[in-house]
Amino acid sequence: MMEYDAIVVGVGGMGSAALYHLARHGLRVLGIERYNIPHEMGSSHGLTRIIRLAYYEHPSYVPLLRRAYELWRQLEHTAQERLLVITGSIDASPAGGDIIEGSRLSCEIHHLPHEILDSQELNKRFPAYRLPSGMSALYQPDGGFLLSERCIVAHVMAALEMGAAVHGQEQVLDWEPTNDGVEMRTDRNHYRAAKLVLCAGAWQAKLAPDLARLAVPERQVLAWFQPLRPELFRLQTFPVFNMAVEEGRYYGFPVYGIPGFKVGRYHHLSQVVDPDLMDRGVHGEDEEALRNFTARYFPDAAGPTMSLKTCLFTNTPDEHFILDLHPELPQVAIAAGFSGHGFKFCSVVGEVMADLVQTGCSRHNLDLFTIRRFETKV
Ligand SMILES: Cc1cc2nc3c(=O)[nH]c(=O)nc-3n(C[C@H](O)[C@H](O)[C@H](O)COP(=O)(O)OP(=O)(O)OC[C@H]3O[C@@H](n4cnc5c(N)ncnc54)[C@H](O)[C@@H]3O)c2cc1C
Repeated sequence: MMEYDAIVVGVGGMGSAALYHLARHGLRVLGIERYNIPHEMGSSHGLTRIIRLAYYEHPSYVPLLRRAYELWRQLEHTAQERLLVITGSIDASPAGGDIIEGSRLSCEIHHLPHEILDSQELNKRFPAYRLPSGMSALYQPDGGFLLSERCIVAHVMAALEMGAAVHGQEQVLDWEPTNDGVEMRTDRNHYRAAKLVLCAGAWQAKLAPDLARLAVPERQVLAWFQPLRPELFRLQTFPVFNMAVEEGRYYGFPVYGIPGFKVGRYHHLSQVVDPDLMDRGVHGEDEEALRNFTARYFPDAAGPTMSLKTCLFTNTPDEHFILDLHPELPQVAIAAGFSGHGFKFCSVVGEVMADLVQTGCSRHNLDLFTIRRFETKV
């Protein structure tokens, strides 16, 4: 049986970063991934993910975000590759709504530069945006996007350089705690390790069944529509956005990588799924939800469809992450439930997981992310 200091299950967004930070600290570490590295079956594909400092979800994410930006820049330097593209970010909602007020609060508490624009001012500054009057937008200049699959590759390459072992196309079947760590069975081998890091994304509850109520997979769909006026949707003219309107909460990107304006709706059609059985096809009602929004708020982007893809969120009940040790098994660290907004944090989550494995606590404040906040036996 092969022995390691730590095994990371799942080499996606979070697992690749955990692997790198553990290897960087000299641990003998193995990452196991059931699909290719990277792949399109989980939560991290589709080329790009928004990163932003203004954080309406909760101001206490901002210190983690500052560290995440720093670590992404370090990874770019290591990889000698551009991974983070700055465009500025827009958070918009009806004036006084949760998004605009939450975003403003995070900026004020953490002294982030920002501007508040009404819908006319926004349209004048960024002509692609056509928000109805009564909407309010916060512009934060540090927002942008990450090249998500390239980030995974960069973390894995850097981990390999540091001596990590990485196995793709190998599925973890089960694991059990032992007196001095864990034992694990995959479809290829058996392993023993002092520590286990669970980064299995939408499959997390299959490896830790007590998380079933706390990390719930949900089907998502992404669309890329060909802009009718491409000059309005370039990196220099179009900030990434998060926006609450009467149709729901949406996010979008300038044209990059795929020749189309990229758009998605949070909790798309509210479909809780089993990731092994999910419908991965894209249908008329999926496209309609994204096209109708685009036609109303970004009419210059509503040209022919270029691409459609399915993807997975894994939601916690309060939509904040789980970054913690297993309450009964201190040899097991868990990164789960990223609730559709986790990718930007992968770099710092890798550091958090390495802290938890090595010392049982983290240099970062994890009060918002404990498992025990759900007051349930895990
Ligand atoms: C459509 C969409 C848009 C999003 N937009 C944004 C955004 O703009 N900004 C942002 O910050 N976040 C965004 N997110 C959220 C973000 O992408 C996720 O939070 C993040 O990718 C989660 O990473 P992960 O490592 O948990 O999951 P994954 O990257 O899916 O990794 C989990 C890995 O575990 C592997 N695995 C599972 N079970 C096993 C097993 N038994 N054995 C071996 N391997 C296993 C899987 O194959 C997978 O590779 C978005 C998500 C989606 C779906």
